[in-house]
Amino acid sequence: MNDAVDTTTALKAKLYGTRGSPEAYAIRDFLHRCDIFFEWVELTSDAQARSEAGTSGLHDPRLPICQFSDGTRLEHPTVRQIAEKLGWLRTPSRTEYDLAIYGGGPAGLSAAVYGASEGLRTVLVERFALGGQASTSPRIENYLGFPRGISGGELAERAREQADRFGTEILLLRTGVRGEFTPGRGVGHLDDGTRLVARASVCATGVSYRRLGLPDEERFLGAGVYYGAGASEAELCGKAGVFVVGGGNSAVQAALHLAKYAASVTIVIRGASLKESSSEYLIARVSRTPNVKVMPCSEVVALDGGELLHTITLRDNQTGKEWVEETNWLFLCLGGVPHTDWASEVGIVRDAGGYLVTGPDLIADRDRPPGWTLNRQPYYLETNIPGVFAAGDVRHGAIKRVASAVGEGAMAIALVHRYLNGG
Ligand SMILES: Cc1cc2nc3c(=O)[nH]c(=O)nc-3n(C[C@H](O)[C@H](O)[C@H](O)COP(=O)(O)OP(=O)(O)OC[C@H]3O[C@@H](n4cnc5c(N)ncnc54)[C@H](O)[C@@H]3O)c2cc1C
Repeated sequence: MNDAVDTTTALKAKLYGTRGSPEAYAIRDFLHRCDIFFEWVELTSDAQARSEAGTSGLHDPRLPICQFSDGTRLEHPTVRQIAEKLGWLRTPSRTEYDLAIYGGGPAGLSAAVYGASEGLRTVLVERFALGGQASTSPRIENYLGFPRGISGGELAERAREQADRFGTEILLLRTGVRGEFTPGRGVGHLDDGTRLVARASVCATGVSYRRLGLPDEERFLGAGVYYGAGASEAELCGKAGVFVVGGGNSAVQAALHLAKYAASVTIVIRGASLKESSSEYLIARVSRTPNVKVMPCSEVVALDGGELLHTITLRDNQTGKEWVEETNWLFLCLGGVPHTDWASEVGIVRDAGGYLVTGPDLIADRDRPPGWTLNRQPYYLETNIPGVFAAGDVRHGAIKRVASAVGEGAMAIALVHRYLNGG
């Protein structure tokens, strides 16, 4: 984004599309997570599609359409084309950096702020929108300094501005796919063929949503099935009945947020009660919110519909009874899994769940990790490859909170300095 932010604030966008369009959802999700103001116009009739969006009707393949206030009209655009229009796509300006950060969630953004502000030539690579999981949260209430809470999108945008101000180069909509590491030199390969060279690297790639694993899940993604708290979707729920799957804090937060807009919200959990998985203050709020109910010992076992999700099948795991509920809104908050296959390819130690193992956790019976050649033990957030650090949720043993991810991002930079100074 960087120098393009001015463009963003000046430029207003109107997005025209139909309900249940996965492409429109991807754009809404992206703009919302980037904290960009836009107007969503849901087209409900051919006449409206003709008069307002200038299309032949609701099934015109040019939909969704993004109309910018400078007159630019993007028909059936990709998220990348929108980011390009906003001036957010850039190419690396250097052939070599001091620090490359992979992942632009709270941990990566924090590392970027501290790295760049402390004089490191810093580049940050983010595969989608900045803010990571946090940017999908409508309200983070336990992050220090925000007594009334802050939306994840706004927190991410503030952090982006801060990182940018200190000179971090942000490469958006790019994915790190492979790495090669030799002492003092890491080469990161991005999905678009870009090659980033840096003296030290921080992996802050977090986790991605766990899926239900049901046959039609992919088909309904953005067309009735949504991952996370649905920050961009809540207001669109109208007076519908909404289902949230998952019993952790993020699921309960999602349910409480959705309850402000939906007629009813049902939290589907496998366990016997929320007490096993969620914080007390959230459970207390659920009990004070009349349109939220908890469906214990249950799970979603099938999805059905046409272009849009129409019904879900639920099963009571105690009795085995199955039944069908009508809904167009299913939010999945099932926690996450790290995607660190690239790390095992280069010999970075992972735990059984794929999380990156760092520092003291690499030391078995006082022995340093196999292949470790330095005359010191790995630093607290350092992997078994010197100069490659991990911070935030991707790390084995991480606390999985915004504050701890931000703390680890900052700590990683202190350790990067030690490493670069020959320690
Ligand atoms: C809905 C929801 C609500 C939450 N609410 C709270 C809350 O109220 N309070 C709290 O403390 N915590 C909350 N959490 C947890 C908190 O958001 C996470 O612990 C935190 O975001 C972890 O930060 P991270 O930077 O380690 O990882 P993530 O936030 O997962 O960010 C990782 C980033 O890396 C990117 N990425 C992944 N792979 C690559 C790659 N190969 N190349 C480039 N980029 C890549 C991802 O796109 C992502 O942006 C919530 C989580 C969710 C899902």
